[in-house]
Amino acid sequence: MQKGNIGVTTDNIFPVIKKFLYSDHEIFLRELVSNAIDATQKLKTLASMGEYKEELGDLTVHVALDKKTITVSDKGIGMTAEEIDKYINQIAFSGANDFLEKYKNDANAIIGHFGLGFYSAFMVAKKVEIITKSYKEGSQAVKWTCDGSPEFTIEDAKKAERGTDIILHIDDDCKEFLEESRISTLLNKYCRFLPVPIAFGKKKEWKDGKQVETAEDNIINDTNPLWKRTPSELKDEDYKEFYSKLYPMSDEPLFWIHLNVDYPFHLTGVLYFPKIKNNIELTKNKIQLYCNQVYVTDSVEGIVPDFLTLLHGVLDSPDIPLNVSRSYLQSDSNVKKISTYITKKVSDRLNDIFKKDRKQFEEKWNDLKIFMDYGMLTQDDFYQRAKDFALFTDTDGKNFTYEEYKTLIKENQTDKDGNLIYLYANNKEEQFSYINAAKNKGYSVLLMDGQLDIAVVSMLEQKFEKCRFTRVDSDIVDNLIVKEEKKSEVLDTVKQNTLTEVFKSQLPSMDKVEFNVIPTPMGETGDPLILTQSEYMRRMKEMATIQAGMSFYGEMPDMYNLMLNTDHSLVKEVLADAEAKCEESLSPIDKEMTEVDNQRKAIRDSHKGKKDEEIPQAEKDTLSDLDKRYDALKTDKNKIFASYASNNQIIRQLIDLSLLQNGMLKGEALTNFVKRSLNLIK
Ligand code: ADP
Repeated sequence: MQKGNIGVTTDNIFPVIKKFLYSDHEIFLRELVSNAIDATQKLKTLASMGEYKEELGDLTVHVALDKKTITVSDKGIGMTAEEIDKYINQIAFSGANDFLEKYKNDANAIIGHFGLGFYSAFMVAKKVEIITKSYKEGSQAVKWTCDGSPEFTIEDAKKAERGTDIILHIDDDCKEFLEESRISTLLNKYCRFLPVPIAFGKKKEWKDGKQVETAEDNIINDTNPLWKRTPSELKDEDYKEFYSKLYPMSDEPLFWIHLNVDYPFHLTGVLYFPKIKNNIELTKNKIQLYCNQVYVTDSVEGIVPDFLTLLHGVLDSPDIPLNVSRSYLQSDSNVKKISTYITKKVSDRLNDIFKKDRKQFEEKWNDLKIFMDYGMLTQDDFYQRAKDFALFTDTDGKNFTYEEYKTLIKENQTDKDGNLIYLYANNKEEQFSYINAAKNKGYSVLLMDGQLDIAVVSMLEQKFEKCRFTRVDSDIVDNLIVKEEKKSEVLDTVKQNTLTEVFKSQLPSMDKVEFNVIPTPMGETGDPLILTQSEYMRRMKEMATIQAGMSFYGEMPDMYNLMLNTDHSLVKEVLADAEAKCEESLSPIDKEMTEVDNQRKAIRDSHKGKKDEEIPQAEKDTLSDLDKRYDALKTDKNKIFASYASNNQIIRQLIDLSLLQNGMLKGEALTNFVKRSLNLIK
């Protein structure tokens, strides 16, 4: 028997391994099984090159549990005593402590750096034995033992067959790894698609109400996973089946992309477009990353472009440096290339479906839209590709490419300044009357009710030249697309003021809602009152909900414009009636206001050209008194309007009707409205 010290420059690597890798220590199993697979693959390679001439036999790797140990056995190339010394004993350590300190939270980085795969066994074991026999003719089997100190022993052993058994004597505080279910879960997570059969115990079957073991090995992996196979051999059903294996309980995917690249990097995989329900976040980061069929992680941030983290599926690449920290990944040139490649592949595939089968593309557009939107919003190179097959959907459910839609609306929806106006609605029911009004004018209205449409609208406004997006309810239909300067007769300001004050006095007070009354001619057949919401303010508020740093806008009240149709007979009646009924009480006030105003003007005129200090204080005081008087008179006047209006049922009724049309009449106000309506028809 030989004794020795493992070539470690730090005193003892094992406590370090244990301490620093604690959180990730389940990966020991991945490391040991991968080593077993590697040893098996190497043997197969040697055999295929004619360097190994014996029978290969059954190459299944076995994982076995007993009360205190886990054993991983393979029938691979095995090791001679010299090889153990070279590969196991001599671990090259350089600046070990510094490195460990830096990457203490990243087990993959540590393992990768030190080639510590095998030593990860000490994360869970107090003693590890290797019993191995090399494939080389006449090899002596050897046993290596180490109890977690830098000392090991190596001695001759008895082993009939070629290959390696790694026996872990599990530490007392790691007993969980002696549970069958735990190991089964880990094998399923890390080893599910490894290329050599892996057996864990025996297959079980139900007999007389009990589970009993059969004689057959329980193979836990699929050695030839779908992404490694040739696409031409595969049917749609195969892809769907694989998807449901990866994500049980999920809806069928929309599309998939089979990736297969050899140059300038190696990448295989299948990416699926899942059906996204309402929560984007829940869908994110489900892509599984493999390195030569060994599962590494399902956190692909930094490896695929952000928007593609919405996709599902598998990526397998030996060229993604998995043994490094995440921040390093982002700057790695291979990762960048892979990311660009995937973006291109995804857009090519979508473009392909669009071109070959537009019908299918349109049918799935609703589900696909969110990927496209997300991609276009977050990545310009994707936008550049996607803009040719991204679709608009109008309120009748018809789809158009951006270019087609532009052609469609160009004629009728260009305003006087040459801007193309895209009209849209985000709720077909709520905005029904506005959509109708626009359609009656021959306009097309887009339905923009997707989760990301608020942001998409802003993006497209910037990408398209000379265009504006306007929601159908942001103004009265005549103002949505201003084609020529208004020449219609506008009421004089006194009449406008009367109408404004009369209606304003009857507006309900609502929390965080403000109204602006605007009398404007909208034609005799138009609605008497229309409630609109300024595009700008509404959009700022919407953006505030999805974008940080805009909360100021979120705090602002909702601003509505109450457009009064001065051409409508009811509004005209209200105006005439108000003028008649208020005339008597208003005339002395009006008279005084005119006088006060004339006096102010006269004084101000006399001040023209004078500097502030040249004006006598007395005159300044007079002017300020006059201003106050004027304001007081105006308040009186408004009181008269208000008192008139409160007795005019039509005003309240008109206001309530327009609120009702916008779903804003609720609670007590709604009850009052119903009562009033009943009274009116009695
Ligand atoms: P890595 O696998 O990254 O090289 P490890 O520490 O896991 O690092 O293994 C070190 C070396 O030990 C391997 O490269 C291989 O030569 C040898 N080895 C480990 N496990 C086995 C095994 N089951 N059969 C044969 N050789 C093995």
